[in-house]
Amino acid sequence: MLNCSWAQFRLGFSEIDSQVKLPLKDVRDGDQPVNNRQHIGRGFYVSVTTGFKCVDFRKFYMPYGQTEIRSTRKGIALRLAEWDQMKKVMELIDGAYPTLANALPCYLAYDHQNQLAALDCRECHPFTIE
Ligand SMILES: [Zn+2]
Repeated sequence: MLNCSWAQFRLGFSEIDSQVKLPLKDVRDGDQPVNNRQHIGRGFYVSVTTGFKCVDFRKFYMPYGQTEIRSTRKGIALRLAEWDQMKKVMELIDGAYPTLANALPCYLAYDHQNQLAALDCRECHPFTIE
């Protein structure tokens, strides 16, 4: 399951990085609103938001009877300089663990071509009520 979250994060990495890098001034100053939240499996999301000078890795939950997810305190916010360091660490991880570097997210697996099986996946749909 960790492989799947890592794979989802790696696939969405360039978009997250572009949100951080290209409009860096926008993320910092709010000239152009940036509000990007990517699901990386189970209840975890990575987000970049104007006004918050960080990349936020955080677990979310669905309050009972609600339709909007909410953030928990479980997570970490990397400052933009720490994000640059994280990118270097990711290269080291990819080099040291090729299996992890080449992992594919579960939504690309054969069983996800069946809609019911895909909807049953807790990695992709963590807030579905059974
Ligand atoms: Zn899945």
